[in-house]
Amino acid sequence: MRVRLALAAIGAVLALASVGYAAASTGSPFYGDPPDAHHPWAIHDQNRPQPKLVTPGTFSTPEQPGKPPSDAIILFGGKDLLNWEADTKEGGPTKWIVNKDGAMECTPGSGYIRTKGQFGDCQLHIEWAAPKDVKGDSQGRGNSGIFLEGVEIQVLDNYNNPTYADGFAASVYGVNPPAANPLNPPGQFQVEDIVFRRPIYEGDKCLDPGYVTVFLNGVLVQDHTQLEGTTGHMKRTKPGALPDKGPLKLQDHGNPVRFRNIWYRELPLRAVEGGTDGPISVEATMAKRKEIAAMVRQDAAKLKDPANPLPELLRLMESLVYEKDEATVQKVQEMAGQYFAAVKALPADKLGAKKDDVKSLNGAFKYLVKFNILPVDFSPNADIEKLVKDQGWDKNKK
Ligand code: MG
Repeated sequence: MRVRLALAAIGAVLALASVGYAAASTGSPFYGDPPDAHHPWAIHDQNRPQPKLVTPGTFSTPEQPGKPPSDAIILFGGKDLLNWEADTKEGGPTKWIVNKDGAMECTPGSGYIRTKGQFGDCQLHIEWAAPKDVKGDSQGRGNSGIFLEGVEIQVLDNYNNPTYADGFAASVYGVNPPAANPLNPPGQFQVEDIVFRRPIYEGDKCLDPGYVTVFLNGVLVQDHTQLEGTTGHMKRTKPGALPDKGPLKLQDHGNPVRFRNIWYRELPLRAVEGGTDGPISVEATMAKRKEIAAMVRQDAAKLKDPANPLPELLRLMESLVYEKDEATVQKVQEMAGQYFAAVKALPADKLGAKKDDVKSLNGAFKYLVKFNILPVDFSPNADIEKLVKDQGWDKNKK
């Protein structure tokens, strides 16, 4: 008895689960909450672009550099310094070297090195190792720096080496200490991932102060830390605009620090610079909604088929979710009226075959009415609703 009850309960759960799954997998556009004043996409919007495909790389260990993901732009891959130059006015060859182990090594006294190419917001991956032979202390031990548009993410051998907190490895130098010190011993490689978002200004107005997030050896050490302009020694820095793009620079601080496996990925636009993800301004939302509606209407036109008008009709109805274009509303009314008249004229034995089609049209109208996109008395909504009820198609039976 108990077993039977348990089986019945499992059966009920499975039945519910399968209904839920079916609803989620039908791909119906009339499903989640519609776009609003700050979100151009509906919840679970089928028209929203698919995330771009990236083949992942492999993770690095202190012993072995990993493989970059497929869309990474390689700055240093272990062979040559073709992407680098001396950080001087005229650029030119650097005195940094690629050593026998395939690492890029600072030649002390030779000056900073910089990439020939420039870039802005990025996910930067970089690995570095302080010299195995420990020399000096505090800021004098294994010091270098990763500079993004004048913002230094400190490189320092802080393994058993205290110094001022805002000058630790992975500090935003002089601005914010790392939240932890997860360093490997000197000589071993440290694996660092930086997400850099530059400040965005419109004239004097700050639209976004810019942020940096850093993982050092997989440990979060800078958590969306707000930028305060470029970094500097002894001086409090001030928030301000930075160039949109710049080279990546690595510091010569007199220590033969080594680097390997340096690459970056470009980041998507933020809302303040035209990105359309996340809550965005009413103006940007409405512009994007208009654009999506036009795309959906264009797609609807491709579905035109006098023998089967429903796909075009449903796609046109879908476009109303983004933009209540009057011409489209009229066309929907006309097409739905014609469709209903044609279905109604079918003999009883042919009507049953239209059940799923009519139900999907009924569902689309219900959705548009529920979210006040069409009025409840929108013709022929009531006729379709009545047909579904009269046929008993609203009952959940096969
Ligand atoms: Mg430094």
